[in-house]
Amino acid sequence: MDYRYLGNSGLKVSEITYGNWLTHGSQVENDVATQCVRAALDAGITTFDTADAYANGAAEQVLGEALKTERRESLEVFTKVYWPVGPKGVNDVGLSRKHIMEGINASLARLQMDYVDLYQAHRYDHETPLEETIQAFADVVRSGKALYIGVSEWDADQLRRGQELARQAGFSIVSNQPQYSALWRVIEKKVVPASRELGISQIVWSPMAQGVLSGKYEPGKDAPSGSRATDSKGGSQTISRFMDDKTLTAVQRLKPVAEQAGLKMSQLAVAWVLQNDNVASALVGASRPEQVAENVAAAGVKLDKDAMKAIDKALSGVVET
Ligand code: NDP
Repeated sequence: MDYRYLGNSGLKVSEITYGNWLTHGSQVENDVATQCVRAALDAGITTFDTADAYANGAAEQVLGEALKTERRESLEVFTKVYWPVGPKGVNDVGLSRKHIMEGINASLARLQMDYVDLYQAHRYDHETPLEETIQAFADVVRSGKALYIGVSEWDADQLRRGQELARQAGFSIVSNQPQYSALWRVIEKKVVPASRELGISQIVWSPMAQGVLSGKYEPGKDAPSGSRATDSKGGSQTISRFMDDKTLTAVQRLKPVAEQAGLKMSQLAVAWVLQNDNVASALVGASRPEQVAENVAAAGVKLDKDAMKAIDKALSGVVET
């Protein structure tokens, strides 16, 4: 496993982060979730991403239980705040001081941890003054309950303003967590250039387009049983944006490109996001331990110019930019 620095900070993260959205506490039974975490640790993954809202708090609980016997200093644990968990009181959403302070305490209790390494604003809050949010994050850092602060899906202007206020408050935003894959390249135009200026890294979600870039969904055929596209608890809905025949046909054209590079299609997809040097880590999910073992082989892979061009050609017409 290779490791990269998160933003301008001294924190190193594994190039592959294991994330548990839609799986832990939902699609996947707890014993399989624990096996996936074990497989991740065995493969050298030290970085784990969750959120309070995943499976209504259950994802944090499952991850905390799976990690509780590990040496805390050898792990980087990330969680998030924004969406409500459980009852939806008027203050149970957003980035107010109240929700952030209550959110971090509740997350730490579910994770059975004294601190998280990275606490992330899951979205931008257009209603709370940014000054209030940043001051609350500064206090969370000062209290030792989170060591670093990140955000998720903030645009370039939001990152600029947030970083300016964070620096005034005595800390820095070290990361942004956007969607990024060979099929979804929206951050390349503005977010990545702004982040480079600001010393912010990307930790990118759905690098495999939720499994689609593994090539296992073939146009005109039923989705394999047990896959996210068949998950009635939410997965089939979230993956549907990539499940049209045009996209699935284009993805199949990546097969010879992967073979030429000596990789599985899943590994090619994860390696592709890691070619961007503003990406600190690819956030990969898994419903089975074998997938974790397969995906980690993408760390450290260098794709040459011909491979990158062949990927663009194969996916021409189906890429969101
Ligand atoms: P991926 O694109 O990596 O998709 C993971 C899914 O693809 C797995 O659950 C599995 O689903 C399938 N898969 C994984 N490996 C393989 C393989 N080798 N071969 C075939 N299929 C495979 O990422 P996710 O969409 O799961 O997102 C990853 C993480 O990103 C989340 O856990 C979360 O931490 C974060 N995230 C953050 C968001 C945010 O707003 N900040 C939003 C969404 C995610 P199956 O086997 O069921 O088909």
